[in-house]
Amino acid sequence: MPFGNTHNNWKLKYSSEDEYPDLSKHNNHMAKVLTKEMYEHLRDKQTPSGFTLDDVIQTGVDNPGHPFIMTVGCVAGDEETYEVFKELLDPVIEDRHGGYKPTDKHKTDINSDNLQGGDDLDPAYVLSSRVRTGRSVRGFTLPPHCSRGERRAIEKMSSEALDSLSGDLKGKYYALKDMTDEEQQQLIDDHFLFDKPVSPLLLASGMGRDWPDARGIWHNNNKTFLVWVNEEDHLRVISMQKGGNMKEVFARFCTGLTKIEDLFKQHGHQFMWNEHLGYVLTCPSNLGTGLRAGVHVKLPNMSKNPQFEDVLKRLRLQKRGTGGVDTAAVGGVFDISNADRLGFSEVELVQMVVDGIKLLIEMEKRLEKGQAIDDLIPEQK
Ligand code: ADP
Ligand code: MG
Repeated sequence: MPFGNTHNNWKLKYSSEDEYPDLSKHNNHMAKVLTKEMYEHLRDKQTPSGFTLDDVIQTGVDNPGHPFIMTVGCVAGDEETYEVFKELLDPVIEDRHGGYKPTDKHKTDINSDNLQGGDDLDPAYVLSSRVRTGRSVRGFTLPPHCSRGERRAIEKMSSEALDSLSGDLKGKYYALKDMTDEEQQQLIDDHFLFDKPVSPLLLASGMGRDWPDARGIWHNNNKTFLVWVNEEDHLRVISMQKGGNMKEVFARFCTGLTKIEDLFKQHGHQFMWNEHLGYVLTCPSNLGTGLRAGVHVKLPNMSKNPQFEDVLKRLRLQKRGTGGVDTAAVGGVFDISNADRLGFSEVELVQMVVDGIKLLIEMEKRLEKGQAIDDLIPEQK
């Protein structure tokens, strides 16, 4: 036997049959797609940085289902993952992103002037508005796979670049390891900071390794523009504020994001992007725009209506609890956001949220008065 066998070759001691995961109780996109034959075909491949099929699927194997969302069940470890394992990932992407084909091309529009309305979501119902996306730095592996050194390098370049922002966007970087538990918890409770990696989805994918090393949050003084460093993606860029002015939130998002892109370019760093997948991110569900525009909105009546789920689907919206993806709604307040990331531009996605939220509030007001909503049920978007 030659020396230098990879971890992956070592596994080939056992047959594909011996190694194939038990997916019989699973309900995620990966489990629907991954056959024994596909496993056999892909199991000895790896990306240039050494990400294997088993690394791609581990989170979906360990998490058969999720109570609130249909999960993807796989992650990328680097930019090449989507190419090397496309036999698995193309159908997952097609399934998750409404039939998006391997030949389709992604479109981008971050000109907030193209958004119609959106400055007038009723603040009696909309508690807060938020837009986020992710960005990955080319040449570095992604959070499920990166080394401590790589992660620290991402943290250093990000905090340095962000320190050059000025005016309304002037802010400061706070590393998790320099914060007290109380400071961290306060930021989480105020919806500014990502949760600790308690979610089995994050843990099983490897994204919780070395926590809290090289993780942190940068934000401007009034916490309306924030960047998470080394959570699920290298960067998560967030614009948010109280109330229902989604237009203002989106405008700040577009300006800030463009400035960040320029700063990284000036420092010689590109973000992972291609014509087909748009922005390349850790979770296949976030490919494309990576954009999730959402509001925390009070819908105590509408959410109890039997047509609620169907209306959300027709509007291409998804719901979460207000504590984040793993939480249930409390007191009729939901996080409602666009369901799509890929195949629509940023402006189109925010527009869907603005229009959809207006309609949901109109329905809520009708139901408050005991009136029917049948004539308001929208066509499938
Ligand atoms: P993401 O998709 O950005 O990772 P999560 O569901 O993981 O979102 O939630 C991350 C944090 O952002 C949570 O604290 C959540 O409450 C907060 N959040 C999400 N949407 C909003 C919103 N519209 N207003 C205020 N906070 C929000
Ligand atoms: Mg999250």
